Amino acid sequence: MVHVHDVVVVGAGPGGSATAHFLSARGVDVLLVDRATFPRDKTCGDGLTPRALRVLDSMGLLSEVRAHGFNIEAYEVVAPNGRATTAKISGAHEALVVPRLILDDLILRRAVDTGARFEPGVTVSRVEPNSSGITAHADDGRAFQGRIAVLATGAATGVLTRSGILPAQPRAMLAARAYFENLPNAQEPTFQLRFDNVPSPGYGWIFPTAERAANVGVGFFPRKGSGTAVRAFHRFVEHLPIGTQVGPVKGYPIRVDFLRSPTQTKNTLLVGEAAGLVNPLTGEGIDYALESGQIAAEHVVQGLTSGVHQTWLSDYDRLLRERFEKIFRFSEWIRDWYCRPALLNLLVPLANRRPELRQRLATIVLGEREPRGYGPANMAARLALYLVRNPRRAVQAHD
Ligand SMILES: Cc1cc2nc3c(=O)[nH]c(=O)nc-3n(C[C@H](O)[C@H](O)[C@H](O)COP(=O)(O)OP(=O)(O)OC[C@H]3O[C@@H](n4cnc5c(N)ncnc54)[C@H](O)[C@@H]3O)c2cc1C
Repeated sequence: MVHVHDVVVVGAGPGGSATAHFLSARGVDVLLVDRATFPRDKTCGDGLTPRALRVLDSMGLLSEVRAHGFNIEAYEVVAPNGRATTAKISGAHEALVVPRLILDDLILRRAVDTGARFEPGVTVSRVEPNSSGITAHADDGRAFQGRIAVLATGAATGVLTRSGILPAQPRAMLAARAYFENLPNAQEPTFQLRFDNVPSPGYGWIFPTAERAANVGVGFFPRKGSGTAVRAFHRFVEHLPIGTQVGPVKGYPIRVDFLRSPTQTKNTLLVGEAAGLVNPLTGEGIDYALESGQIAAEHVVQGLTSGVHQTWLSDYDRLLRERFEKIFRFSEWIRDWYCRPALLNLLVPLANRRPELRQRLATIVLGEREPRGYGPANMAARLALYLVRNPRRAVQAHD
């Protein structure tokens, strides 16, 4: 007789493995499947924000993650004209860089230790709802039964389109990265975000993985003529004193369309990037994957006792929107209005003169809550006031 799991989770990245962990911790019977065998690499900048670390802490993983991570104490923004501003990441916030090869394996192992069953090498082609739950069909003809499915397949949209969940391919960011060693200078413990020599809107990053090693990459929202991610990557690193490249340049899309994305369908919830949950300004998505995994697990536990019905599905969508909609709208707004070369050239020197603005920008870059007093209307008013008071600075910033 075929075993019907309480939940079949498809995708064992941070979103899927966190969901599986939180479900197993509540005694739920979980099957977690992934097309890959672990440890596996995931093309990423490897930056972990305070949001991500809070969830990892609640999974009991923080000390292990810290042991494998490079501690970040500040962030630096370099404007298109080369001027830079730096802010400390304050004591309440912690940030790390941890290679995904290590991080994802740690999270998956935590889910398995908690009780989830993991099946590697399963490529799910589509998920089909039925009267008692769902069937996840694999490429090789196998089928897995569950009462509920959680899809955490990241930016790979195949399962979502074949299952009729995503009607069209969403517009995604393009990104590429490579690892570098033997950097000429010892790396400051800093997230460096560079807006020089990258397509706009977008940025390049140097995230240190060790004193003389870094994850270097570029991510941008494609516009006409912006070209491929790999080409943008080469243009970006050409101008940097960057040491020896280790391994290939890898490109991958980033879905940032949560505001327009479905989050559920019959007997199925979407988690992490499968729901478009990546910050549209920064391209950070590990944090939202972990957080939405935690939300989904709590909601599934409720559904397994009270019943899986339309209201339960819409409640999941509501919970995600309550948690993430404000920060996503704010981040899109900043991306579309502030990530313009001329404005960035103005903002960076302005931030250098205003420590409180620098600190506020740090919280935006880290994806923390929209800072009060620095919402879209306020930011526009502050900038307009500054330009009226300092007309000569506006001209200099363009030089
Ligand atoms: C170049 C780049 C740089 C980035 N930098 C950062 C950063 O510094 N910090 C940050 O927070 N975020 C960053 N991101 C975003 C981040 O990588 C993702 O948002 C995050 O990995 C999403 O987690 P997830 O669990 O939703 O999906 P994923 O981590 O993508 O995991 C999805 C899993 O599903 C599996 N899968 C997919 N399809 C199937 C299928 N059909 N059947 C079975 N298994 C399947 C995959 O093998 C994979 O293991 C970056 C992304 C890119 C591309």
